[in-house]
Amino acid sequence: MTTHGDQLAVDVRGLRKRYGDVTAVDGIDLAVRHGEVFGLLGPNGAGKSTTVEILQGNRSRDGGEVSVLGSDPGSGTRAWRSRVGIVWQDESAPAELTVRETVRHFARYYPKPRDPEEVIGLVGLEGKAGSRIKALSGGQRRRLDVALGVIGGPELLLLDEPTTGFDPAARRQFWELIRRLADEGTTILLTTHYLEEAEALADRLAVVAEGRVVAEGEPAALRERHGTGATVEWTESDGSPRSEHTETPTRTVAELIGRFDGEIPGLRVSRPTLEDVYLRLTGQDGLSGPAGQSDVPAPPAGQESPR
Ligand code: ATP
Repeated sequence: MTTHGDQLAVDVRGLRKRYGDVTAVDGIDLAVRHGEVFGLLGPNGAGKSTTVEILQGNRSRDGGEVSVLGSDPGSGTRAWRSRVGIVWQDESAPAELTVRETVRHFARYYPKPRDPEEVIGLVGLEGKAGSRIKALSGGQRRRLDVALGVIGGPELLLLDEPTTGFDPAARRQFWELIRRLADEGTTILLTTHYLEEAEALADRLAVVAEGRVVAEGEPAALRERHGTGATVEWTESDGSPRSEHTETPTRTVAELIGRFDGEIPGLRVSRPTLEDVYLRLTGQDGLSGPAGQSDVPAPPAGQESPR
């Protein structure tokens, strides 16, 4: 058994994967610490799923070093597998079984499973424990999938787009679940397309584009570092809306105060959102090219390197 110490939960260096002519992963570095929620964000085809599958031990790699809970997933033992929680989409559980029967059944695969009733409660399915799987809604079904991912009491949970297809309420409930698991000490790596999800959940995140990490750090720090300036919006006396992007919003507002007598109609000062930053980093903002040059050596300390 590996001792953890200061070791990272997930340590990926120079990961590469090709499918024929397609380079899916082109030298990804990742450092996920024990106990953190780490988000992998990126557009379609960025290489997120491929990376997660390699971390799960379900896909081979062409290059790089990968350590997940101290082991190479490519040669992970059964004991190692029981420490890594994988959430499959639509786990092939018989539709006739109830939620409780299914969770109990899966618990038997693990040496030290969690209490099935407790896990059913954790994912918010206590009201459906006696329902057959076929009678669950899509969102409830995904909750069951998560229950099956955590029934073994994993130290690390790997989630690939866990909330795709959720309605907004189900997504918020799922976030609560992730936070509860994180509070219990589970390390979580999740991929998502949803910026607000990454911002709501992730202690740190990596933005991936074209198989590379193009930025990495705390969501707020990423926004600060990569999103400069602010937009000042107001309404002119004739009713026409105005906006100005500026590096010095305070000066702009001061000028407006001098010009308007009293309140400035429709005044709004907004900083770039994480979405603005994300679109720029991934070359989808219509201004910058694809983010080919990584500005991140991804130091394990999680501090973003300066541009
Ligand atoms: P999405 O957000 O759309 O799920 P992703 O970031 O998860 O995308 P991957 O699924 O890892 O990206 O795909 C990365 C690249 O590798 C894409 O160009 C994809 O077409 C290609 N790819 C993925 N899986 C295979 C496969 N089994 N065979 C061939 N090419 C593949």
